Amino acid sequence: MKRLYFFEEGDGRNKDLLGGKGAGLCTMTQLGLPVPAGFVITTETCREYYKLGKLPEGLMEEVKEAMAKLEQKTGKKFGDPSNPLLVSVRSGAKFSMPGMMDTVLNLGMNDQVVQGLARLTNNERFAWDAYRRFLQMFGKIVLGVKGEKFDQIFEEKKREKGAKSDLDLTASDLREIAEEFKQLIKQETGQDFPQDPMKQLQLAIEAVFKSWNNPRAIEYRNFYKIPHDLGTAVNVVTMVFGNMGEDSGTGVVFTRDPATGEKKLYGEFLFNAQGEDVVAGIRTPLKIEELKEKWPEIYRQLQDVAEKLERHYRDMQDMEFTVERGKLYMLQTRAGKRTALAAVRIAVSMAKEGLISKEEAILRIEPNHVEQLLHPQVDPKAKVKVIAKGLNASPGGAVGRVVFSSEKAKEWAEKGEKVILVRPETSPDDVGGIIASAGVLTSRGGMTSHAAVVTRGLGKPAVVGCEEIEIDLEKGEFRAPGGVVIREGDVITINGTSGEVILGEAPLIQPQLRGELAELLQWCDEVRRLQTWANADYPRDAKRAREFGAQGIGLCRTEHMFFEEDRLPIFRRVIMAKTKEERLGYLEQLGKIQKKDFKEILEVMDGLPVIIRLLDPPLHEFLPRYEKLLEEVITGRVKGELQREKEELLKRVEAMREANPMMGLRGCRLGLLFPEINEMQVRAIMEAACELKKEGRDPKPEIMIPLTCHVNELRKIKERLERVAREVMEEYGVQISYKFGTMIEVPRAALTADKIAEVAEFFSFGTNDLTQMTFAFSRDDAERSFLFPYLEQGILPFNPFQTLDKEGVGKLMRMGVELGRRTRPDLEIGICGEHGGDPASIEFCHEIGLNYVSCSPFRIPVARLAAARAALKSKSSKISENQTL
Ligand code: PEP
Ligand code: MG
Repeated sequence: MKRLYFFEEGDGRNKDLLGGKGAGLCTMTQLGLPVPAGFVITTETCREYYKLGKLPEGLMEEVKEAMAKLEQKTGKKFGDPSNPLLVSVRSGAKFSMPGMMDTVLNLGMNDQVVQGLARLTNNERFAWDAYRRFLQMFGKIVLGVKGEKFDQIFEEKKREKGAKSDLDLTASDLREIAEEFKQLIKQETGQDFPQDPMKQLQLAIEAVFKSWNNPRAIEYRNFYKIPHDLGTAVNVVTMVFGNMGEDSGTGVVFTRDPATGEKKLYGEFLFNAQGEDVVAGIRTPLKIEELKEKWPEIYRQLQDVAEKLERHYRDMQDMEFTVERGKLYMLQTRAGKRTALAAVRIAVSMAKEGLISKEEAILRIEPNHVEQLLHPQVDPKAKVKVIAKGLNASPGGAVGRVVFSSEKAKEWAEKGEKVILVRPETSPDDVGGIIASAGVLTSRGGMTSHAAVVTRGLGKPAVVGCEEIEIDLEKGEFRAPGGVVIREGDVITINGTSGEVILGEAPLIQPQLRGELAELLQWCDEVRRLQTWANADYPRDAKRAREFGAQGIGLCRTEHMFFEEDRLPIFRRVIMAKTKEERLGYLEQLGKIQKKDFKEILEVMDGLPVIIRLLDPPLHEFLPRYEKLLEEVITGRVKGELQREKEELLKRVEAMREANPMMGLRGCRLGLLFPEINEMQVRAIMEAACELKKEGRDPKPEIMIPLTCHVNELRKIKERLERVAREVMEEYGVQISYKFGTMIEVPRAALTADKIAEVAEFFSFGTNDLTQMTFAFSRDDAERSFLFPYLEQGILPFNPFQTLDKEGVGKLMRMGVELGRRTRPDLEIGICGEHGGDPASIEFCHEIGLNYVSCSPFRIPVARLAAARAALKSKSSKISENQTL
């Protein structure tokens, strides 16, 4: 087994074996870029180290040989004071884990080498500074001496010498420090600092291997779901010094702006410094543009390197470099992390530059990038005061006054205040408060906590699990680090995209579907097969949906219209009516209002299908709550009040009570028992359509029956409703092409879909109910009781009300599609449950051959992208299947 690769020989594509940094160094070397000579010890060797519990037999012999080769290449000698070779020993795993593992610089120095280096560079101060840095790093990382102890000695010396900054220390001060560092090491470890460079190298390699499993690295991998058994590679690289004087320096540069995606070099640079000085933030670095004037030649070289690397990797790069006495060296390159905005801009412009295809551009954008871009954002250019940081649970920015209870949130919101709800955590009782708030901040809970899930669903920004703040509900305040106290009514901003909590009002910018994002989504429309429809109950939602690219309405829940203030009293009378005549009278009033609603929606969606679902929820949802009413009536009775109306209402509510309303008199069952309600709705739909048709429009209504479990239900309802539809068309003297279909939201409906399709002209999977009925989890209660413990304990891998359970619910859907199309090959099938806007679920909907997904308007852009990605992924998996045949 080959354990060691020189940069000239390693395969830069093999990050598994060489780690990200090693692979990058190999690629850069082989592209002819200026990289200091060096080699990589493989991740496989690290795994071997963990298996054996020590460095594998023979490894150090190979390292010695490699060092001899390195000496030849550089013309320097390891441990030779007259011309010393110094190296850095750097960690580098397959996935970048910035700052999590260890690196040792200036290795190979000792009491003699420092003298030699001073002579050779003619710079005594530089040599002693390099030595003390090495002692400090080696002592801390390899020998395990506490870092603060070195810092104490250093600071003490500065005080003693009256030095304001590190640069004020002289060579002899640094020499004294080095001596004290060695004493400290002896004192702490009981052993002398190892003077033998090869011994240093061996210990450093082992320390880097060990750092793979230090607690912060493990925690990082847990968070980012990086497997723990990959191991790290070790890079041994010839040292180049950025701190050799004013003709030297070090910096970091991106090939494009990682915040905006603009195509220009972007980065920072420090003159006369080593890499760690940039990271430590001791001195303020200069902008990379300033190099253009100071060192035009180096700037030009960097541009050249950037272009070569982008052409090779076909992606934006984040590079580290050092300039030693006017010569540029590249020390690292990797794909640069970027904001959602930059991700979209870069992908689109790279496709236009011909670096990548449009398909690749689409595959590079994650659905959450689009989601982030469409929420109002905290202006990234604004100067803000961040007071705490938590988890970025739901993207976007929100400004408001702090409140500590849902009641207050609702109360203040009603008065027109924008509020931020601050709670230790939230529960289902807080949903009303969350809806009333602009955003939510919690001090406990993770990315799947109630607050996180609910706010993401609502598209509201949230920062959760912000443990840095201490909430005192009694006093009505929270404390942030640094003594900041925020009281009820104070204004804060939360940035759900970054997880930051900001003091006062930060400027927000309104995103729009334009520019590169609009362009990318158009490319998506060219490749996707799934259509994207919207769940919209009101004309304003329908309008927004169309702006975002909706191709139809997949669900218009008519009951929401009944809950409105001017309608609820009329609908209550419908329910309370004693005679059919009385009921019909009230229904006629409602019908007029409904017709107006439908007409407006059909008009906005002119030419596109609009699925209108007939009344679904149990009737008692429209009446006062039983317990409350009972209490009022009893109080009245005790006081001897005359309350005939209330007594009657109570009787009616009592009569309609059900132990399991979700499985009770709802859905099409209502339509069968109270046909007048459905008839009124169908009449309103058809009248609206006929009027529009007469006005020269092209309405395309589709009437949908909820909660069907048996085809006979549909037969009965259809017969009656078709009669109404015919009557209306005759009255108006126009013909409307409408469809009659059903939701599939009960397992029996999916299991008998072939029968159901004999009557239904379209199916729409109501996966909210279908999930509830398949799991036997109440969708109203599960999330506040056992569902989150189930997720925490890993019993369920994800919340099935959010992401489709392909294995169970999905099996029913697949069956429903196959059976339904067996009877009616051109059956239109879609999904309108919450899952219709969830990218992973959309992929599945593509796979099983649905015609469309329907989701809330603001998720339409995400759905357009997810549908395109699903189409591209299945195309590429088909191609690779063919290739293996
Ligand atoms: C469903 O059950 O998935 C659905 C869309 O209907 P509702 O959520 O209104 O029950
Ligand atoms: Mg339903």
